[in-house]
Amino acid sequence: MDDLLYGQRNKRGDWAPNEPAATAPLFVFPPQPLKLLRWLPHYFFPYNLLFAASAVAWWHLALPDVETMQTLSWSWIVRLFFINAVAVFLFYGAFELKLYIRRSQGNRFKYDCKFPADQRSKVFVFERQNLDNMMRTFGTGLPIWTGIQVAVLMAYANGWVPWLTFAEHPVYLFCLALVVPVIHETHFFLLHRAIHWGPLYKWVHSVHHNSVNPSPWSSLSMHPVEQFFYLGTMFWHLLIPSNPIIALYQLHVAGFGAIPGHVGFDKVEITDRTGFDSHAYIHHLHHKYFEVNYGDGLIPFDRWFGTFHDGSKDGERQMQERYQKKKARMNAKAEALKRKQSTGAEV
Ligand SMILES: [Zn+2]
Ligand SMILES: [Zn+2]
Repeated sequence: MDDLLYGQRNKRGDWAPNEPAATAPLFVFPPQPLKLLRWLPHYFFPYNLLFAASAVAWWHLALPDVETMQTLSWSWIVRLFFINAVAVFLFYGAFELKLYIRRSQGNRFKYDCKFPADQRSKVFVFERQNLDNMMRTFGTGLPIWTGIQVAVLMAYANGWVPWLTFAEHPVYLFCLALVVPVIHETHFFLLHRAIHWGPLYKWVHSVHHNSVNPSPWSSLSMHPVEQFFYLGTMFWHLLIPSNPIIALYQLHVAGFGAIPGHVGFDKVEITDRTGFDSHAYIHHLHHKYFEVNYGDGLIPFDRWFGTFHDGSKDGERQMQERYQKKKARMNAKAEALKRKQSTGAEV
């Protein structure tokens, strides 16, 4: 595919789309029904439908019967861990293999012209981003992922929380399944905003931001505290009356769904003429500029809080204005503190 029909490449070689990044047309006034209709398929394809299907597959193929899940036993838990790990390896690995190892579409549609494997950085274990990212994914990410899954499934199996069945509550559960991505977006935005607060950023979230030029394995490369709270979105289904398959879907939206924001390419080419949108641009801009785009754009939280960057020159100008204002506020604070100290010293 010719990526210059869809965007531009700067002198450095970085590609950016012509169309600025857009948030979903869900909360626009006046409503734009045609735009909403055109956008609607993206709500399901390709990712959410895949994650919903994977939840059903896990329920039928990866998990034991309900009686077994009532007690902690290594046999089903280790099996589940192994299945989760293999699935992540294959799913993340498929993007990595195509785009970063075989480099089958070269630099086409790639936001950052550089490939992480070609650069060494001291922030990573053995100075290698991929190795560091994979160690965090499998070393702490997958055990936490499986631990959360086991805790929630045990709660359902033992009847500690309500378990609504599809036979008795089809409409309610269908509606709940529909809003799973909305729950995810809200949970992610609030958590993400919180861990960008100075001390928490330093202690927890800076690990994820080591990957300034993210690639598929960066998706779950986080501090264990962040991994726990990020994947802990599944716990909402202990508070909301729900069903274990929908709870699994919620977990898969977080775990497997971390990929789209970190692919690093705007389109993944399938043939010479076709490809699918990765929906990575909003989160890629977050990795590039840090203090913008805390959400993924399903709900326009960043527009509401004034932190949205759509990748355009106008978005850049707004971000610079915010930085200047923040700098001025910090300078004024430092000045006031200095004045207070000097008056104290005189007294
Ligand atoms: Zn990220
Ligand atoms: Zn962040």
